[in-house]
Formats: sequence, structure tokens, C-alpha cells
Amino acid sequence: MTKTKPYNIETELVINKSSDQYNASVPPLYQLATFKQESLSNMGEYDYTRSGNPTRTHLQNHMAKIMKAHQTFAVTSGMGCLDVILRLLQPGDEVIAGDDLYGGTHRLLTYLNNKGDLKVHHHDTTNTELIKLKITPAIKMIFLESPTNPLIKVCDVKAITDHAHAVNPDCIVVFDNTMMTPILMTPLDLGVDIQYESATKYLNGHHDIMAGIIGTRDPKLAERVYFVINSTGCGLSPFDSWLLSRGLRTLAVRVERQQKNCVKIAEFLQNAGFKVRYAGLPSHPQYKLHQSQCKGAGAVLSFETGSIKMSEKIVESTDIFGIAVSFGCVNSLISMPCKMSHASIDSKTREEREFPEDLIRLCIGIENIDDLIYDLTRALLKSGAVKVNEKDELYNAVAVQPKL
Ligand SMILES: *Cc1c(COP(=O)(O)O)cnc(C)c1O
Repeated sequence: MTKTKPYNIETELVINKSSDQYNASVPPLYQLATFKQESLSNMGEYDYTRSGNPTRTHLQNHMAKIMKAHQTFAVTSGMGCLDVILRLLQPGDEVIAGDDLYGGTHRLLTYLNNKGDLKVHHHDTTNTELIKLKITPAIKMIFLESPTNPLIKVCDVKAITDHAHAVNPDCIVVFDNTMMTPILMTPLDLGVDIQYESATKYLNGHHDIMAGIIGTRDPKLAERVYFVINSTGCGLSPFDSWLLSRGLRTLAVRVERQQKNCVKIAEFLQNAGFKVRYAGLPSHPQYKLHQSQCKGAGAVLSFETGSIKMSEKIVESTDIFGIAVSFGCVNSLISMPCKMSHASIDSKTREEREFPEDLIRLCIGIENIDDLIYDLTRALLKSGAVKVNEKDELYNAVAVQPKL
């Protein structure tokens, strides 16, 4: 017991190592924009909150441990992270992006592509051999997500990253880890150069702030990222940094509970006869690959009913599941991506990517699992999607049009 070993993430999340003058047990909130200088020549550690604020610094140092990064940066949203990262590129640079990325990511990349600022190539990142062929020395950045949502596509992060660095050591591989969180995945261990997450989702977990975190192990990249953040002024506000620090403390218990509920719901829907997409089911085409790079499959799944009308009815019939975009909050949500989060992708592109228009996405919270199954069963019955053999029996629904 003489060697000091690093703590596990569950412990790191709740430990507060503060150098506060009063030994505050949680990070104090420095809700201010300017700091007085000692003298004309002595600037002090902080001068202006756009450049730095102790509450934000505390959050960033804490996140660096949790993401296993050299340095992290807190900005005003997940999209803000992507904007900062994209500003590292030169005009006309070529980049590769997945073909099932988050809708907002797709929108920003398409905007820059259409303006001629960047040349964006979208490819199916689940096809590792195809991606390897497409990575040429001209590719300056690669954007990956795994699993994607709502199609729950998994890509081989290490194989793609290693190949990209072999072709061009300066190619920056960027990974969006919003879906898995540091609890289930450490993309920096797989070699990616920059990892970012929308902290609006699981990291904060309470849907009361918007935030994003960028992490890297490369001090030079960190310097460039900081330069953009300080120049554009998108650093996270002190109050939101403070709230995010609070939300983070329960990240491990929330994700564990949400995932446990999600596994049960995935099995329930699959047993009923629906086509379910969830990387935690052995029926998922990349189940093994996902397991090899993550510690779990998270708490977002999607399923098809075979009818848009039926799906609409289901979404509008739940009581506990709120109709909302986003995920990662403590309460469960239901949505139809084609009409909501992914409506910014035009219907032709959706069709090309075999995006089912009847797809329902479930984002599972920490509620009692029997209540969630009860609520879903009631909505499925009301829409005519299932019948139940014995009335009021839980876990007993049978799809009217099985799609397995
Ligand atoms: C929500 C989300 C984002 C964008 O984050 P915001 O905080 O909403 O700006 C990016 N990527 C993924 C996977 C997301 O789910």
C-alpha cells in the first residue's frame, strides 16, 4: 500500500481539491467579470473572465482528470466546441465526417462546406476499410461519433485514428463523446487528438444549462484551442461552470442507473418483436466492436414500429416520457428524430442514409423501471402497435407487426 494509485472515476467525480482561502468544501462561485491588478506591473493570475475565471478553471481541472486529458476547456455549448475546433483549420481544408452525425454538427459542417470555407466528405464510418481508403494526406481533420444517434452506428475509433495518423501525423482526429460520457468511454486512450462533449446532456444531467467541454493531451493543440476561446469569448460563464461542477458529482450514479433501465427497455421492446437499435443488445451488428471500446451502451435507443402514424401516436401517448429533443437528463424522453432533432437534415439525405421515418428515440432516465415499462406499454397499446395477452401484465406486450 505504499504506492499511490490513481482513484477511479466515481471517486474523482466527487472529490473536491480546492485551494480556497476558507477551505470551501465545494468550488466557490466567482460571479464577476474583472479582477483588480496588484499593481501596474503585476497582473495577477486572473484579469478578465473571458480569459479566465477561478470557477471555470476549477471545472476544467476537474474535467481533465475525468476525461484523462492534459487540459480541458469549458465553453457555452456542444456546438460551441465544434465551432472552436473548426477554427483550427485553414480555408479550403478537406475533412472527413461520419454520415450519421448529430444534426447540429451536420448543419454547421454543411454551412461551411456550402460557403466554400471547407470541403466536407461524408462517409459511412462503420465501414473501416472504406474510411481508410478515403483518408489521404489532404485530409486535415476527421469527425467521429460512436455510437451515433438515433441510428446507433458504431465505428472502430482506434483503427481509423491509427490509420489517419499513419497517413498524416498532423491529421487531427476529433471525437464527439456526448453519448458515452467519460464513464463509459475514454476516446483519448484510443488515440484521438481532441475529444469534446455536449455537457448539456449527461455531464450536467439536469437540463438546466447549456455547456460543452473540449479535451486534449497535446499541449500545442490546447494552446491553439485556448487562443480561439479567448479570442471569440465563448468560455463558459462562472455560474454555468459552477452548476456544471455540481451536476458532475452524480454523473456516475446517473449513467449507471440510466443504462440499467435502458437495457431492460431494449430487451422489452426486442422481446415484443420490434426492431431495436441499441449497442448493448447482442443483436446489434457491431455489438462486439462496441464492447471492445466502451464499458457499456449508454441510455439512448431507437426502435421502428413500421408505421409513421403509429409512431406519432405512441410519442403523443406517453405520460412519464416527455416529448423533447436532447438526452442525458434524469428524466426519460421520447422523440421522433425525423420530425425533431434531425429535421435539419433534408428528407432526401435522410432517405439516402436509410433513416427510417417511423423511428422513435427513447432517452432513458433514472425513474422506476416498472413505471417506465408500464407507461410505454400503455402508449403502445393505445397506438395499436401491440396487444397484451393478459391485461395489466407488465413485460408482456407483443408487436402487431413484428419487424425482427
Ligand atoms: C446535443 C449534442 C451536441 C450539441 O451540443 P449542444 O450543447 O446542444 O450545443 C453535439 N453532439 C451530440 C452527439 C449531441 O447530442
